[in-house]
Amino acid sequence: MSELRFNELRGEHVDYAIHRQERTFLPARDHCPLCPTRPGGPPTEIPFAAFEIAVFDNRFPAFRAPRGAAEVVVYSDDHDASLGTLAAERVEALTWVWRQRYLELGAREDVDYVFIFENRGVEVGVTLHHPHGQIYGYPFLPPVPALELAADARLGGCAACVLLRDELAQERRVIYENESIVAYVPYAARWGYEVHVCLREHRPSLLACEARELRLLAEALQSVVRGYDALFGRPFPYVMAVHQAPTVGSAPESAAAGHVHVEFYPPLRTAEKLKYLAGSEQGAGTFISDMLPEESAATLREAIARAA
Ligand SMILES: [Zn+2]
Ligand SMILES: [Zn+2]
Ligand SMILES: [Zn+2]
Repeated sequence: MSELRFNELRGEHVDYAIHRQERTFLPARDHCPLCPTRPGGPPTEIPFAAFEIAVFDNRFPAFRAPRGAAEVVVYSDDHDASLGTLAAERVEALTWVWRQRYLELGAREDVDYVFIFENRGVEVGVTLHHPHGQIYGYPFLPPVPALELAADARLGGCAACVLLRDELAQERRVIYENESIVAYVPYAARWGYEVHVCLREHRPSLLACEARELRLLAEALQSVVRGYDALFGRPFPYVMAVHQAPTVGSAPESAAAGHVHVEFYPPLRTAEKLKYLAGSEQGAGTFISDMLPEESAATLREAIARAA
């Protein structure tokens, strides 16, 4: 059903999850599998008439025990909610759910990296509109977190700490700040409206965060998403990636490496225009962008203020 192959030329794994072809694809809203099971209605994935946050194994997993995990995290029983419109307490609770899943999946022998993410919008391939995210437990360290570890080595310390210090010193690309969190468009953003949401303190994972920091992280994420939605006056598509320390048991040196941050990759350049990954991005691995991070940061700051 599922097979992991190593692509020698790229030095990376490719996961073949053939059964995923049968996934539910953009069902009508009264057949949403992530809605609660209403009395007298058809059964959904969630056998309750109401719920706050639901976590369960993905029925069409890209990874599964004993070689990894794939879970679905449903943010709300309200089909039309989003990260931006949920109550603040709900998003705060969601960060606690993330933390608990990181703890449990990370403790597993077959999980080397716990990856929490959300795909939002058909533009990034969403098949269900109900507000939800996913968690993959990779049975190996994937290339992106591996690159971040390499950046730590290159910069002689935590890369996230170094980059955050630079962004705070330069100020121009910072779009949101609170007591514990800073959000900015990175100096060398690949996507026009890419944003990184970073803990001020060095916290390898959500497990190292204080309760207050989780609350302020939730607040920051909501501010960013609301700003995104205000930007073009439409639900803004994105991929949201939560990066934390790897959970490779056999490599103790990785235990403190990693610094909690959330990266947003939005494919939109304007209200209608999408950024496609084409020749240079795919064939050479070099992003070509027609937007300066300083300018997108100014636009996003304004949108966040407008949405507040
Ligand atoms: Zn639904
Ligand atoms: Zn750090
Ligand atoms: Zn990252």
